[in-house]
Amino acid sequence: MTSSYPPAPDWSGAVTALRQAESVLLIAHVLPDADALGSSLALGMALRSLGKDVTVSVGDPGFTVPDSLNFLPGLDLVVPPEDVVIPDLVVVCDTSSPERLGVLAESVSAAPISVAIDHHPTFNGFGTIHVIDPESPATAALVLKLIDMLDVPLNREIASAIYAGLATDTGSFKFQSTTSETLRTAARLFDAGIPHSELARKLFDDEPFAALKVLGIALSRAVLVQGAVAGRGLVYTTVGCDDRGELPELAMERVIESIRRTHEAEVAAVFKQSDTGVWKGSLRSKTDINVGEIARSLGGGGHKFAAGYTGTTDVDQMVIDLIDALDRAAGA
Ligand code: 5GP
Ligand code: MN
Repeated sequence: MTSSYPPAPDWSGAVTALRQAESVLLIAHVLPDADALGSSLALGMALRSLGKDVTVSVGDPGFTVPDSLNFLPGLDLVVPPEDVVIPDLVVVCDTSSPERLGVLAESVSAAPISVAIDHHPTFNGFGTIHVIDPESPATAALVLKLIDMLDVPLNREIASAIYAGLATDTGSFKFQSTTSETLRTAARLFDAGIPHSELARKLFDDEPFAALKVLGIALSRAVLVQGAVAGRGLVYTTVGCDDRGELPELAMERVIESIRRTHEAEVAAVFKQSDTGVWKGSLRSKTDINVGEIARSLGGGGHKFAAGYTGTTDVDQMVIDLIDALDRAAGA
């Protein structure tokens, strides 16, 4: 990092706060992915083993664990946001800005101390203690370092929750963020006895039949805009509420994984309509287009190669605005 922001991780401040707190609430971002929830559960299980009163929650009203993540260990720690009691310490995992905390945003400011653990370059500075490292391939890798510093032994359950975050955010150890250190971390998790093949299947290769049918609809209406991104190509599709019927929003998270395979496009986008009718954009790039910056300019955030934002217009206008932003970024 050439810039001084985010500041260097405050490991000792975080460890001291974690050791001193008697009650801890861990919060993952709304519509949590495996890194957000896995990181929270792993640290939650570690803190519980130290005798602390631990809860994990997510600021989606009435939150319950989605089917796609219902195999993670430690789920007995999860409470809906309506049942949250302000603890000594709040820990926020994998969340770059307070609006991603949904209805729990105020719990963070209400707690005397709050630790933010994150790896988004677009982290915007909320919380009182920061463990932010944009070089880290996953928040789960930062959480494992904290667990080591707390001298909590790495058992199979904690290791499984860490693996879920690490494997997901590295795209099964394929993305550029994967280093030899990442693979050494993965080896430690294997040595802790994780059921890696079962976890990988549940994380990447297991979807309801109805979700595959919606994927089919989304793929069949995908559009390739070859002239976009200064001629390097954009592929995009949409998934409206009507398309997914009874399926939850989270069941559409994997559509981008198929769309982004398009050879002719540097950038892929999926526009997903939430239950409230608002459209969300998911962006992926392949080589040097920083979609994190583009998402930030559109009101969201994320990483260089994976980012997202919430729209303020109809989806047709979102497509136009995205193409404009991409052309500007690509120097067209
Ligand atoms: P996805 O496309 O899988 O939803 O998200 C990709 C990345 O962008 C994730 O790291 C996620 O945290 C980030 N992201 C997605 N949506 C938003 C958003 O609305 N705001 C911010 N700040 N980041 C987002
Ligand atoms: Mn993450």
